[in-house]
Amino acid sequence: MKRTSCSACGHDELDTFLNLGESPIADAYTATPDEPVQRYPLEVAVCAKCRLAQLLEVVDHETLFGTGYSFYSSASAPLSAYHAAYARDVRARHPQLVARGVLEVGCNDGDLLRHFADVEHRGVDPAHGPTDVARARGLDVVTRPFGLAAAHELRDRRGRQGVVIANHVLAHVADVADVLAGIAALLLPDGIAMVEVQYLPDLLVNNAFDLVYHEHRNFFSLTSLEQAALRHGLHVADAQLTDRQGGSLRVTLRHPASIYPQHVGEIFRAERWLHHWSAYEGMQGRAERVRTRLWDLVAAENTAGRMLAGYGAPAKATTLLAFCGLGRETIPWVVDTTAAKQGRHIPGTGIPIVAPDTAPHADTYLNLAWNYSRQIMRNNPGHRWIIPIPAPVVL
Ligand SMILES: [Zn+2]
Repeated sequence: MKRTSCSACGHDELDTFLNLGESPIADAYTATPDEPVQRYPLEVAVCAKCRLAQLLEVVDHETLFGTGYSFYSSASAPLSAYHAAYARDVRARHPQLVARGVLEVGCNDGDLLRHFADVEHRGVDPAHGPTDVARARGLDVVTRPFGLAAAHELRDRRGRQGVVIANHVLAHVADVADVLAGIAALLLPDGIAMVEVQYLPDLLVNNAFDLVYHEHRNFFSLTSLEQAALRHGLHVADAQLTDRQGGSLRVTLRHPASIYPQHVGEIFRAERWLHHWSAYEGMQGRAERVRTRLWDLVAAENTAGRMLAGYGAPAKATTLLAFCGLGRETIPWVVDTTAAKQGRHIPGTGIPIVAPDTAPHADTYLNLAWNYSRQIMRNNPGHRWIIPIPAPVVL
């Protein structure tokens, strides 16, 4: 279904700035190389009114999240460490609010929520596998999507909360307004909502077009997030930029309006360029240039007789390979350390995903997990590396 109005403000003027053609569901890793996959358009538009960047194609929830592959927060050591530090920070800054109840939207397997197990806590997430794990850990978690209706039920049963956390949730929802309305309904009058989203300016500046896939429905700036939150009576109280997921924005929202700290004003000022079409219009050409340049580099490896393979099978690899038209003729296998992906194939490409210890020798790797380039190259010395984003280079 193609979206005709903005997910946050309902405005109907959506200007497309990036069209990556048709792409499979990014993490629907196939069991066999030739398994047919459905492809859906991958177009990003920006709302002329609130400046929320959003995917035009809204793939239905079951197709998108019923793929059989589930992401488990606890499986990622860096993410787990991030959660521990995050929880320490929230508890140190807002001890009284934490004591009045913590609710996490999109709690996954409870990797963050477990740090609040000693206080009144609740998690909500639509994914069955991860929420089963969370409950097995003794956490109070319900399996369902979150929105205003879910918020009303939770509020009737448990009352309002001191802290609502929604990290990397708003990017994935089809109805931003419904989720923010739910958060507003669940918060105590002096409570805080902590929301983390991938940061649109980093996507634009880093030319990270491969972060565009069907699960990533919305791309926020502080400007567009504030606009969306204000519609539900939530004001920005604080904001920070972090380097998680190639650039993220962490925002604290609360009901009463307050004067925000100076560093928040600086983020708003630095975002002024996003009001101009020039912020968006170059992205298509840059993505196409990556495709041309990658083909040249791949051809050069072939000519030199070097064995080329891929490293990493994150969801973004599906977008990059589909857009660039690279398949198993060029990339005969990719190495990935995630056990659940090994033995499967990158959707639409037939490229098998293999464990590092069973992989054949490659002279050169195309690094599809480019945001972890430094660690990956350190752990795998003695290879040539093609880093595709922001512009392809050989290291
Ligand atoms: Zn809008």
